[in-house]
Amino acid sequence: MAHRVTLIPGDGIGPEVTEAARLVADASSVKIDWDVVQAGEKAIERSGSPLPEAVLDSIRRNRLAVKGPITTPIGGGFRSVNVALRQQLDLYASVRPARAIAGEGTRYPDTDLIVVREATEGLYSGVEHWVDRDHTAAETVNVITRKASDRIIRFAFELARREHRHRVTAVHKANIMKTTGGLFQTAFREMAPKYPDIEADERLVDNMCMQLAKKPEEYDVIVTTNLFGDIISDLCAGLAGGLGVAPGALFGDSIAVFEPVHGSAPKYAGQDKADPVAEILCIELLFRHLGEREAAERVFRAVWETIAEKKFVTYDLALPGYTAHPVPPSTCSAMAREIARKIPNVDIDRPLVRPVDPYAVQSDPHLTDEPLPTHR
Ligand code: NAD
Repeated sequence: MAHRVTLIPGDGIGPEVTEAARLVADASSVKIDWDVVQAGEKAIERSGSPLPEAVLDSIRRNRLAVKGPITTPIGGGFRSVNVALRQQLDLYASVRPARAIAGEGTRYPDTDLIVVREATEGLYSGVEHWVDRDHTAAETVNVITRKASDRIIRFAFELARREHRHRVTAVHKANIMKTTGGLFQTAFREMAPKYPDIEADERLVDNMCMQLAKKPEEYDVIVTTNLFGDIISDLCAGLAGGLGVAPGALFGDSIAVFEPVHGSAPKYAGQDKADPVAEILCIELLFRHLGEREAAERVFRAVWETIAEKKFVTYDLALPGYTAHPVPPSTCSAMAREIARKIPNVDIDRPLVRPVDPYAVQSDPHLTDEPLPTHR
């Protein structure tokens, strides 16, 4: 039976990368019936609203969505569609895996962690005001509730158990923000003993950033509040190879929305240039959520092999800075076609091997040709 999934192409590079993801999904054995709806700039042109009720209805009905990025005007203009979507559908858990793919483009090829970010409150609650008439001072309210803290922390421990992860690290700033940070910290300390099989520890957010820049391979699942999670997940995307390869997912109690970490990158819109991998790996996450583990593994391996071969990779994966052997960049659509072509043929039992790059090996002692453990 086909799964009905809402597809939101989004703005900027969104239509190109969601088309790439759709091509890859349609090449797999999982049958998907796409329900395409518009949010963002296209929706404003058509209906006057960036988030029409029809979009929310479609997601509520299907309970599954794949979304492209949506532009948020800085300062004035409409409120963030992304924030509104999370709040209206109560998508409280933002899950962003950071895995170094194919071992290149990162100094940290052993990075394999998951950031779990509370997505409905904190400093993104949208409660802001001017303090005085002259607009010389402003305040944003940091809303932290025990209910939302408990559910995101429980979510992180349950995810750790399901994904055979061994450790959950809570990130906060309870030494300075004693009330809000302290509430999150207390919720974590009271939840952790309910999961005796999982190691639990805490880091202050500044120390966490330093630790991640030094030894990300030591971290497993990180759970944190909204703003810290937004920043840390971009940091982790960079550690694992860049925004172009970082997927994500948003979960409520019965709804899941899959979207890349990156934004709409307007300067690359319509050029068939953007890296489709982050959006394609959202399909892998969707398949894992559906329990389609083999299909998910095929997507991951087709991406891995395509990046490792370097015959069809977009500019960000083709140039110096990502690879020691620059190659001519491919288009977004050509890379997607190559990944889709590989889907039925990848050998899911073969150990994943990092390509050995002689230049990279000289400059980076972490790179090896050791077989990697099978991807979780
Ligand atoms: P961005 O992620 O769009 O772009 C930052 C830079 O990263 C780009 O200039 C580009 O060099 C690179 N990049 C990002 N995605 C890439 C890809 N797939 N392939 C190749 N290179 C890629 O971040 P931004 O410029 O801060 O934001 C642009 C717009 O996107 C803003 O309006 C912002 O609000 C919005 N945004 C939306 C979401 C979302 O919909 N979930 C998330 C983040 C930002």
